Amino acid sequence: MRAAFRTVERLCEHLGLNPSEHASIAAARDFPLFAPWPYVRRIRPGDPADPLLLQILPVPDETKSVPGFSDDPLAETAATMRPGLLQKYDRRVLLVTTGACAIHCRYCFRRSFPYADVPNSISDWQDSIDAIAEDPSIDEVILSGGDPLMLVDSTLTQLIDAISQIEHVSRLRIHTRLPIVIPSRVTDSLVGMLGDARPQTIVVLHANHPDELDTEVEQAIDRLSSARINLLNQSVLLRGVNDSVQCMESLCRKLVNLGILPYYMHQLDRVNGAAHFEVGKDEGRKIVESLRERLPGYAVPTYVEELPGHASKKPIA
Ligand SMILES: *Cc1c(COP(=O)(O)O)cnc(C)c1O
Ligand code: SF4
Repeated sequence: MRAAFRTVERLCEHLGLNPSEHASIAAARDFPLFAPWPYVRRIRPGDPADPLLLQILPVPDETKSVPGFSDDPLAETAATMRPGLLQKYDRRVLLVTTGACAIHCRYCFRRSFPYADVPNSISDWQDSIDAIAEDPSIDEVILSGGDPLMLVDSTLTQLIDAISQIEHVSRLRIHTRLPIVIPSRVTDSLVGMLGDARPQTIVVLHANHPDELDTEVEQAIDRLSSARINLLNQSVLLRGVNDSVQCMESLCRKLVNLGILPYYMHQLDRVNGAAHFEVGKDEGRKIVESLRERLPGYAVPTYVEELPGHASKKPIA
């Protein structure tokens, strides 16, 4: 984390790109560039269209205001039970564990989330843990963020222990991009702790492009699999990054070969600054239809969008 790239200038210099031609310093002011070495190493130098670069480079398009795009497109402010605890769907709650991430994805719908309100120590979570304990209908707790694996192991262990003590919680789900962006975060002790937790543990990864899955990531995935942790992946359909059948097919094939099931392919959430990533739903549907002809059924993700007030993520059929 300490060695990560934090400025447009340094990243462009490293990749041999001209920052005034390809990037925007103004866009980085709102939501800073942040990308760690293991991720940047997978970017092809000198290629401004590299699909991994496009996910992290602040660009002038972000500063445009586009009708239909807003700061809270999912109306999460309304779904917040108490700071850091969200319940939108029946029987499962989402705990925002930290505002921090190991990468800043330019399309992220949480880029304007009020993270300052988020608890970040075990005592701050006690209210949320009590609320979960008092509601026996909740059988799954999702640790999200930010990225929950940004917590240090001791804090994460305390949190997971507290959740594990609630008998009606059968499943613990962790939404994280860290094993993809800094695979060395998947240490033996982390894997041991997750594998030993009393609830069934499900790790939902976030990779958008096959180039994100290099040998180091594969080794991290192997470590998670060996602890019998269930692995799923979610991706976001992104213009210029993965908006082709060939690319999505290659991503899904690589994932299933690693033992990861492609879970969701998300329609972009309409957050300010991300409009240039949007792919039309008709185009998205065509991609999924073609995937179905090329891949086994289990390797095809469900194409979904999130609509405020809806009882689930909504499949785009
Ligand atoms: C996405 C999400 C979930 C999980 O939904 P699944 O369809 O079960 O993956 C739960 N809570 C919130 C607030 C979410 O945004
Ligand atoms: S890792 Fe996830 S939460 Fe963090 S910036 Fe990327 S998409 Fe957003």
